[in-house]
Amino acid sequence: MPCQTNNELEAILEEAKYYTQKGKVADYIPALSKANPDDLSIAVYHPDGRCISAGDIQESITLQSISKVLTLALALIECGEEYVFQKVGYEPTGDPFNSIVKLEMSNPSKPLNPMINAGALAVTHMIKGQSVEERLNKILSFVSLLTGNEHTTYSKEVAKSEFETSHLNRSLCYFMKQHGIINEDVEELLDLYTKQCAIEVNCLDLARIGIIFALDGMEPITNKRIMPAHVARICKTFMVTCGMYNASGEFAVRVGIPAKSGVSGGILGAVPNRFGIGISGPALDDKGNSVAGLKLLELLAEKYSLSMF
Ligand code: GLN
Repeated sequence: MPCQTNNELEAILEEAKYYTQKGKVADYIPALSKANPDDLSIAVYHPDGRCISAGDIQESITLQSISKVLTLALALIECGEEYVFQKVGYEPTGDPFNSIVKLEMSNPSKPLNPMINAGALAVTHMIKGQSVEERLNKILSFVSLLTGNEHTTYSKEVAKSEFETSHLNRSLCYFMKQHGIINEDVEELLDLYTKQCAIEVNCLDLARIGIIFALDGMEPITNKRIMPAHVARICKTFMVTCGMYNASGEFAVRVGIPAKSGVSGGILGAVPNRFGIGISGPALDDKGNSVAGLKLLELLAEKYSLSMF
């Protein structure tokens, strides 16, 4: 079913678009600095498979931190809840996504949650296979299953650009290796992680992933189960508590839905039993969230009473 442009959504997008000027595209990963800060698009998927959109929905971005929810789902499916939470915790940090501070302070020394970089690296380490390629293919197949797009691939340029500049993520990995959270070659883990973060999607793909989480793991229309309900539930819980980095508390008050952002400017939203939302808007605020994307969600939440609280 093609995604229809929608006038009401267009009007909300126009209002939010002004806020793109208030942000800046990420440049700590050099390749991301090429994004257009004026871009903004949104797609909304309904449980009956209908999709509505506004803006240029073909514009592709990389998953970045949004991939952390998907690898968490995959690790929970493959390794089980008990194993995953032996290696990562459940608690929000209130610190920036790449912060190293609490890694040493927590006792035992394990990342506080799977949505910060340290936790996400520990989760990617759990995705097993004979080679980086085999492990990446597992992640790509899972993303394809969620987006319904069998041609899912990753940007070699963005992955390479991040790999070459991942000094902080390298230090998180070495710290975790010292403390037995991971035990593989750090360069291999970073190779896989940066490729996972560079997987390309557009806001339609994000909305489709969102509706599957919103429906507790079921695909709309076919009613096929894509992931166990408890896995979708755990992921949505982390999206509420840590999905918008150290702005998750304010986001819960202002919008009140499970959501996950990435520094490419993507936002994945899952309104339980109602909508999957995908947003692409590369201009970011100082915490790394899409500034116009946040505004768009705030306007939508107000208009359609989206908050779960
Ligand atoms: N790949 C990015 C990193 O590790 C993801 C961060 C993000 O989107 N917040 O720095």
